[in-house]
Amino acid sequence: MLLEVRDLHVEFRTRDGIAKAVNGVSYAVDAGETLAVLGESGSGKSVTAQAVMGILDMPPGRITGGEILFKGRDLLKLKEDQRRSVRGAEMAMIFQDALSSLNPVLSVGDQLGEMFVVHRGMSRKDARAKAVELMDRVRIPAARERVRQYPHQFSGGMRQRIMIAMALALEPALIIADEPTTALDVTVQAQVMDLLAELQREYRMGLILITHDLGVVADVADRIAVMYAGRIVESAPVHDIYKAPAHPYTRGLLDSIPRLDQKGQELYAIKGLPPNLLHIPPGCPFHPRCPMAQDVCRTDVPPLYEVSATRGSACHFWRECLHA
Ligand code: SF4
Ligand code: MG
Repeated sequence: MLLEVRDLHVEFRTRDGIAKAVNGVSYAVDAGETLAVLGESGSGKSVTAQAVMGILDMPPGRITGGEILFKGRDLLKLKEDQRRSVRGAEMAMIFQDALSSLNPVLSVGDQLGEMFVVHRGMSRKDARAKAVELMDRVRIPAARERVRQYPHQFSGGMRQRIMIAMALALEPALIIADEPTTALDVTVQAQVMDLLAELQREYRMGLILITHDLGVVADVADRIAVMYAGRIVESAPVHDIYKAPAHPYTRGLLDSIPRLDQKGQELYAIKGLPPNLLHIPPGCPFHPRCPMAQDVCRTDVPPLYEVSATRGSACHFWRECLHA
């Protein structure tokens, strides 16, 4: 297995107390595989990814338990300089907002080239040639000319392609993309997502795709892990989830995807808000919003029940949900 997160716990110290952002998350992704991590904001999906990248464990955030195995080594046991070299060369992250991730005063060619100068000891000239090659690779037209331009001279979609090029530069084994298309128009979203999926296949990378939008991952993900209140509430192969969700929260997310055949109908929305992480509800954290909740849900935390060999659901009533 390329990456295995085991029973990860992360807390944040705030003025009002300790926010439990990640509460025992386990997931895995192999080379050539795409795992979509789905959830509303505050579900812990980004925080988990930041812990994997090693860009989290500093105040006020604190990893309080678990393991992060990358190619069999526990990253949480590495020294900071070892950690940094894994982060630089073996895993890369793509963020939602390319404009704030790119340096506004450096040409994109210089930023792409920098990766090769710093990590591969290339000359400026060779690094520039590599930058053009990468821009071609992510299908930025007229790369040879545009390599001299600055981030603000590119459209949102093109900037996101540049981010993908940066992430790919050192051919990492794992890419984590955190809402990579959320800021883009729907048509551009699909193009960027297709490109990412294509490159992932070609380079046989592991890809973790973090999103709040179940609609964008259907065609690209192998597995989906649905997060709620810092836990995984359902984990399954993508087709199983679309056929029949085994958790009411997943069902709610599915029902809130706009569908072409239901144009004009009012879109379903899960009622209520995600919980405050300072005061996670007892029992099943989803119970205040769950249309299927029973008394037991208010007192007993559901474990991740084994629905099948490849599927788990943290719902006491997963059978009823599956057959609803
Ligand atoms: Fe709903 Fe109960 Fe299942 Fe939680 S355990 S999702 S409250 S039915
Ligand atoms: Mg986020």
